[in-house]
Amino acid sequence: MIPMVDLKTQYHDLKSEIDTAVLAALESTQFILGPNVTGFEQEAAAYLGVSHAVAVASGTDALHLAVLAAGVGPGDEVITTPFTFIATAEAICYVGATPVYVDIDPRTFNMNPALIEAAITPRTRAIIPVHIFGQPADMTPIESICARHNLTLIEDCAQSFGASCNGRMTGSIGSLGCFSFFPSKNLGCYGDGGMVTCTTQELADQIKVLRNHGSRVRYHHSVIGYNSRLDDIQAAILRVKLRRIDLFNTERRRVAHLYSELLGDIVTVPYEDCKGVHVYHQYTVLTDRRDAIMAKLSEKQISSAVYYPIPLHKQDVFAEAYAGVALPVAEDVAGRCMSLPVYPEMPEESVRLLAQTVREALAG
Ligand SMILES: *Cc1c(COP(=O)(O)O)cnc(C)c1O
Repeated sequence: MIPMVDLKTQYHDLKSEIDTAVLAALESTQFILGPNVTGFEQEAAAYLGVSHAVAVASGTDALHLAVLAAGVGPGDEVITTPFTFIATAEAICYVGATPVYVDIDPRTFNMNPALIEAAITPRTRAIIPVHIFGQPADMTPIESICARHNLTLIEDCAQSFGASCNGRMTGSIGSLGCFSFFPSKNLGCYGDGGMVTCTTQELADQIKVLRNHGSRVRYHHSVIGYNSRLDDIQAAILRVKLRRIDLFNTERRRVAHLYSELLGDIVTVPYEDCKGVHVYHQYTVLTDRRDAIMAKLSEKQISSAVYYPIPLHKQDVFAEAYAGVALPVAEDVAGRCMSLPVYPEMPEESVRLLAQTVREALAG
């Protein structure tokens, strides 16, 4: 059996450190906004090269609070990609704004910067590129478009902890960066968790107030906020794992590069933009014979998955409102993409067995 991710092996590798950290957090009983949260925020900010990091309850909340802090509201438009997890669009909709989807680059699956300016209207307030599958979006042109049109740049870094673009970490490029610590993400905790990185003290203050019931001083509430704090226990686990993130990402790249060597002649393997460091949250290929490959893998108890089978403008929740919108690259990619297991602890034999099985499926 080969799973998509193997959280158990990773836990066993780190067990003594994680258990010690969790037990210490239990003993401290400072469960809400305790010392591990502050410690993790400082360590994560230092790692990412940002001045401020604010931990929240999930990646979805990170996006929601970032969109609010950017001042986006009812009637506004936010430009994003249709080839992402639904949470990117949900955050825009939560504040009463409208997602405007621009098509993707067929090589990187990231938002195509050449198509952004045609989508800007007087109502556009922000752009949310997603560093999909761990590959940084093409940020230089997106940054200049934001500067030229006075738009807030919010990065969706849920899949890209540790990825960089021209030597800058994802999450340090836009005004706000949104991370998820869902267990299977490159940096994952043991439940839900998230974080917003901010370039200014003012934005960090706003996120801190929003995550804690609109309150700066206890029982004084200046705005309507939310209950969206990272648990101290989760922060304790994240501090242990943050010390290993470069090793985890290096190992993901090792698995990905071996796949590409073994499969490059039979499927379209991931393209690595030379400007960035891809951290392979997913290893996603394109093939016209997805069903045959997935059936053969499943026969041998090898996992695979389709991220994402339906672009957002075609989802039931959006289909009617976006009936006239055609995004041919995202639609084509959704029909031909498939993701293979990739995790830091994946043994070389598993990668080789998997590649061999894909070959057999395509030969048969
Ligand atoms: C996982 C993910 C999110 C949401 O994160 P949660 O922590 O699950 O709320 C948002 N955007 C993208 C691209 C993701 O992959």
